[in-house]
Amino acid sequence: MVKVRFAPSPTGYLHIGGARTALFNWMYAKAQNGKFVLRIEDTDRQRSDQKFVDEILDSMKWLGLTWDELYFQSERFGIYREYAQRLIKEDKAFAEGDAVILRMPQQEIKLYDLIRGEIVFDTATIKDQVLIKSDGSPSYSFACVVDDALMEISCVIRGEDHISNTPKQLIIYQSLGFHPPKFAHLPLIMGEEGRLSKRTGAVAVSDYRQEGFLPQALVNYLMLLGWSPGNNQEVVDLDSAVKKFSIKKVNKAAAIFSMDKLEWLNSQYLKKMNTDDLVNLLKPGLQEKGCLLEQIDGQRLRTIVDLYKGRMTTLKDFWGWTDFLFEDSLRIDANIRQKHLAHDLRKEFKLLSERLANTQPFDSSSTEKIFRDLVAELGLKSSDLVHPVRVALTGKEVGPGLFDTISILGKEKTVQRLNEAFG
Ligand code: GLU
Repeated sequence: MVKVRFAPSPTGYLHIGGARTALFNWMYAKAQNGKFVLRIEDTDRQRSDQKFVDEILDSMKWLGLTWDELYFQSERFGIYREYAQRLIKEDKAFAEGDAVILRMPQQEIKLYDLIRGEIVFDTATIKDQVLIKSDGSPSYSFACVVDDALMEISCVIRGEDHISNTPKQLIIYQSLGFHPPKFAHLPLIMGEEGRLSKRTGAVAVSDYRQEGFLPQALVNYLMLLGWSPGNNQEVVDLDSAVKKFSIKKVNKAAAIFSMDKLEWLNSQYLKKMNTDDLVNLLKPGLQEKGCLLEQIDGQRLRTIVDLYKGRMTTLKDFWGWTDFLFEDSLRIDANIRQKHLAHDLRKEFKLLSERLANTQPFDSSSTEKIFRDLVAELGLKSSDLVHPVRVALTGKEVGPGLFDTISILGKEKTVQRLNEAFG
């Protein structure tokens, strides 16, 4: 039976590295019809925090990494104590006050890592190990081994930073008479200029969610950190990735985190997303911005979302780009005004607004015709008027096509903003 686990310590948020470890475990389990265990390693009562537990569980669900079993090590202290006592009885460990210490046998330890191949450790440098600390809590390695054994974990998949713990843990398996699982240590994740830092992407999964990334895109990105579905394929959904996934094909070399690539993937997923689904995702953000959703026509909202869908990198872009459509009055930044509305176009705007006021139906082709005819009559170039009109209507220098924008803004607001543009 294939059974793997993701074992985060709730001493911090679920970050990119942890999420990648969780995902690889999850894919490994799914690929072999196995089970995926989530084990919260909250043995350090001082540093563990409920808010981190909540965020980890929430982020895992948001990513779609659901688990078959959930454990909290803080509820299992009795079990660890029992196994430590057994080792004392067998004289493999000794008590030192309230602590329990394992005697380290001197021997060579060999590990066959599914990703890195054979690794040989010399235990001469490894000192006697604490199994139970004097405050009664288990050490990380002891709790980890007891749990991996009792939970019948068949393969431990975790970050490369844990390689140095593995020989100690193998000795604990041996002392307890447990059969060790397989091991696979995932490559480090580096930033483009060295260590992964907050600035280069090492932020919480919940931050990416807040920033408007889609879970499908983040999952897609994470799976590429050390693995590839082949054929240079980059956009790959989780189901097909699971079919192709093999832990042996994971790279040894460090993976490089690229924000540009994550953003690109997110834009790809946004583009292909069903409009109704996207509307639903955007609603909470619109509400937060003070939009009264019940006053917005559903069809209009879908049209707006369709218009912006292809340009968005994150959901946040939408909220920032479309405020002009939902607000009654428009605020135009002084610099933008200076750049595009310094030249007095009162007369031209007035003519345009009068004609648009009489246009029926009010759509992108009818408004375009009005605009082009007027520009020709006045002997202007389109561009003389396009930018000032866009700024007067939207407060922005860029956006979708002007006539799509005009038609979605609607006659009333278009006319009003043209009339008010020069005070
Ligand atoms: N609690 C450990 C961590 O968060 C788990 C390590 C392991 O997977 O064994 O790094």
